[in-house]
Amino acid sequence: RAPDYIRAISPYQPGKPISELAREMGLVEASIVKLASNENPLGISPMAKEAIARALLELARYPDGNGFALKAALSERTGVPMSGIVLGNGSNDVLELVARTFLTPGSEAVFSEHAFAVYPLATMAVGGKPVAVPAKDFGHDLDAMAAAVTDKTGVIFIANPNNPTGTFLPGPQIEAFLEKIPERVLVVLDEAYTEYLSDDDRYDAIGWLARFPNLLVSRTFSKAYGLAGLRVGYGLAHPSVIDLLNRVRQPFNVNSLALAAATAALADEEFLAKSAALNRRGMAQLTDAFRAMSLEWIPSWGNFVTVKVGDGDAINRKLLAQGVIVRPIAGYGMPQWLRVSIGLPEENARFISALQQALS
Ligand code: PMP
Repeated sequence: RAPDYIRAISPYQPGKPISELAREMGLVEASIVKLASNENPLGISPMAKEAIARALLELARYPDGNGFALKAALSERTGVPMSGIVLGNGSNDVLELVARTFLTPGSEAVFSEHAFAVYPLATMAVGGKPVAVPAKDFGHDLDAMAAAVTDKTGVIFIANPNNPTGTFLPGPQIEAFLEKIPERVLVVLDEAYTEYLSDDDRYDAIGWLARFPNLLVSRTFSKAYGLAGLRVGYGLAHPSVIDLLNRVRQPFNVNSLALAAATAALADEEFLAKSAALNRRGMAQLTDAFRAMSLEWIPSWGNFVTVKVGDGDAINRKLLAQGVIVRPIAGYGMPQWLRVSIGLPEENARFISALQQALS
């Protein structure tokens, strides 16, 4: 019999796949707009696609379990030595590795209300106690989070920008928070959406690593780099932290296609810039429409925005009936809101008109 702490877990609810809605509604897949999983509407970088084609020829071999080429490229890009980098099967894998390495049954993980769902999942899977600190204006209340630290705290998770609310903490606030946290507590700064930040908002978490040996910065290739389906992310931290994670990590946790694609994607700066620019325009398109419709939304620093629609589940069903998939977030304690990812201009327009119809 599985332990009670496993039975207490509510499974992660992914965005509805296009194929599933097509089957349910008798719709043609190509007619469906999916804005539910914060994916990159531009698809995959052409350079990554070529790298995958080359890597296909080597699939009979195991991947490089140490991810040498990708780590070397990340090291060059970030200035972090290769010994300070761990690769994951998506950044979710890094979050889980942290939980498995730094939490024990009975220890506590602190995170914010309305923060990413994987924090409590990863915590509970190892018997840890999730400590959700009430949010402030839908974002992290860092003072309250620091006050929630006890002798039992093993890990603190911070998502910046946060998903699903899109809120953002300026760098100096996080730095001041790190100063207050005892070194025995690992602080995970989850920067899954960092590539979408403007130059004005961008802060240098990597520059803090030397001062805070208990800081781990996690990032992903799933969002701005457009590789969600391949599952590749990474963590940056002091080599002593990375060494522990590597002991727990599956030997071949990142597959060969993902390694090749991520290494190539990292070099495709044009694709990254295009993705960020498209996101800025799409964000304006959606928020202009919300304003015109007198809908409340939470200003977002990510590639998605959360909007108040009333009965989230009912409106979601009406959107699905029109072939538009977004994300209801009742499971995040926000039943009146829907989270919508920024798509191509025509996808955003489809969503807006479907929302107008659903609300009428
Ligand atoms: N962190 C945050 C805040 C996220 O929103 C996501 C994606 N939903 C992830 C981590 C995990 O993404 P992936 O495993 O695809 O890297």
